[in-house]
Amino acid sequence: MNLSDNIIDIKGIGEKTAASYKKLGIDTVDELIHYYPRSYKTYTQPVTVSQTAEGDRVAVFCKIVTYVDTHKGRRYTISSLSAADSTGSIRMVWFNMPFIRNQFHKGDSFVFYGTIKYKGNMRVMEMPEYFTQFNYQKTMSTMQPIYPLKSGVTNNSITRSIRAVVDVIRAVPEYLPADVISEKKLMTEAEAIHEMHFPKDEESLKNAIRRIAFDEFLSFLIRIRKLREETVSEPNTHKLTKEAVLKKDAFIAGLPFELTGGQKAAVDDITSDMNSEYVMSRLIQGDVGSGKTIVAAIALLMNSLSGYQGALMVPTEVLAVQHYEDLSKLFKPYKLKVCLLTGSMTLKEKRAVYEELKSGECDIVVGTHAIIQDKTEYKSLGLVITDEQHRFGVKQRERLEQKGNFPHVLIMSATPIPRTLAIILYADMDISVIKELPSERKKIMNCVVGTDYRPSAYSFIKNQVKEGHQAYVICPMVEDNEITDAENVINYSDDLKEKLGDQVRVSYLHGKMKESEKNDILHRFINREIDVLVSTTVIEVGINNPNATVMMIENAERFGLAQLHQLRGRVGRGSAQSYCIFINVKKSRESEERLKVLEESNDGFFIASEDLKLRGPGDFFGIRQSGDMDFKVADIYNHADMLKLAQDISLDYGEDLQGKIIM
Ligand code: ADP
Ligand code: MG
Repeated sequence: MNLSDNIIDIKGIGEKTAASYKKLGIDTVDELIHYYPRSYKTYTQPVTVSQTAEGDRVAVFCKIVTYVDTHKGRRYTISSLSAADSTGSIRMVWFNMPFIRNQFHKGDSFVFYGTIKYKGNMRVMEMPEYFTQFNYQKTMSTMQPIYPLKSGVTNNSITRSIRAVVDVIRAVPEYLPADVISEKKLMTEAEAIHEMHFPKDEESLKNAIRRIAFDEFLSFLIRIRKLREETVSEPNTHKLTKEAVLKKDAFIAGLPFELTGGQKAAVDDITSDMNSEYVMSRLIQGDVGSGKTIVAAIALLMNSLSGYQGALMVPTEVLAVQHYEDLSKLFKPYKLKVCLLTGSMTLKEKRAVYEELKSGECDIVVGTHAIIQDKTEYKSLGLVITDEQHRFGVKQRERLEQKGNFPHVLIMSATPIPRTLAIILYADMDISVIKELPSERKKIMNCVVGTDYRPSAYSFIKNQVKEGHQAYVICPMVEDNEITDAENVINYSDDLKEKLGDQVRVSYLHGKMKESEKNDILHRFINREIDVLVSTTVIEVGINNPNATVMMIENAERFGLAQLHQLRGRVGRGSAQSYCIFINVKKSRESEERLKVLEESNDGFFIASEDLKLRGPGDFFGIRQSGDMDFKVADIYNHADMLKLAQDISLDYGEDLQGKIIM
């Protein structure tokens, strides 16, 4: 079997399975072996029942003391039994698994593995896994890969399929010179891929991840180098007019605030780039709340007043709508036509915008990736801006750049990348940094508290609302699959309505809502028709409501620090004092230590570096989950040494390697 073979050729994979795998982006053996686990499960030494506490994920060795009871509940068939050791008992519960009754007999002993919950005084484990003692001992010494899944594909199925092509993995050819491998103590690519799927132990898994990270960095660097070669010497055919530059000064003078030093410097950089011999390719880096949007607006204004079209691309529809509305207001006096283009618009609506872009009637378009789809043609695209761009891949950027006659490119990012790494990662760009926040801002006040503080938090929110302010509440995440995120958000907000009373208008937002519903809710929140917005993390990126002064985050311990920092960045955006309340539900020492970093600092750079230091030993993948950059495994902080190595190698061997690396 070969890397390029279709997975249908693997024993055990039929048409149906292959179709499900396709949804995961797996068509070939090559794609299968590069489909890495999301995390690993290690089964821990069993503890006694009395040692367990709410929320613990544990194994217990217990004897079954009742018969299996099966009855129909409202939504599920529920099977349960009681199991006990000498220190206490636990009720084991399974949903929609009536056949489970055949597995268990009174008097038998099993190891049960799951999360402890309390129902009244009773300990409960829902959907526990169960093992014979012998099998559990065997499993305990291994790390079980957990793959990201979609319906129709199980973890076991992926494990089995990968096992079937283990010979192909072993034969993956090494593209790096042998002396580099030995000198840098790298695993071979074949070894590393094998370890990712079947890790021997933590140490060797870490080495495997390092090697895969290296591969990802290298292929990324080679690609952006090509991008740079193509664009860097592209002549600038979209120069600014003198008039446009002058009007920009008047626009800035008319703003309700003075630009910060960093904003002014960024605007100067952009102005001189857009007037230079070659096209602009610039990254604007600034922490959340540093005021990047207005800098983008100024660039769009100058560009359009010079007679060219501009495009602003953002990662979510909700953010697109917000930017669209803000820009429409700002540019009204200039008679510039701003259009919105998002995936959820009707075909008819989209067609109208396509027409206007093609004819040149539309001056500025704001939207999601819809603005780079093939159907979108521009009359004279002069400037492309991506906001919160780390959510966009290099590929999308390449496509966007091909849309026009090499338009100027501006990227806005809040990702706090240290300068030394930014220079490598954005080798194809110049960089402006906005260091300071607007001076009128008061420092956000933070507190990390337990669940017993909830009543005080609610009455605090009530008072802030009385004073005319608004609040966000980020809902706890659901564990297991008893209820969906959506149901959870709805339940929480119902509960909150009751607690806050009729005077406070509570509403909710979650990812499963239609885009139009989401936009409507957000609209009303920004127009102050909603006081408290209960939400999942869908509001994480970019949303701006300067009148919101409280951010309350449930289950704060379950988020990465970088993500918490982004969430907190939704408040403290106006002149009023803002507050962030982190509810630490599972108060482990580790989570307390991590959250303390946020309590003490509002600085994105500091938080990113502390996050790195505090990561637990089992936390192999770090913040890659936050969607940063393009990488599946590589983490720019954690693998900074691999990034630097990839940089060196790409300089030494780049030409030779180009054809050999999977892109
Ligand atoms: P981010 O950098 O996170 O994208 P925004 O551009 O959304 O931040 O700006 C956040 C808020 O700060 C907005 O309400 C904006 O109007 C305001 N703002 C931007 N620049 C300044 C400034 N120089 N002084 C005061 N407020 C500003
Ligand atoms: Mg922003």
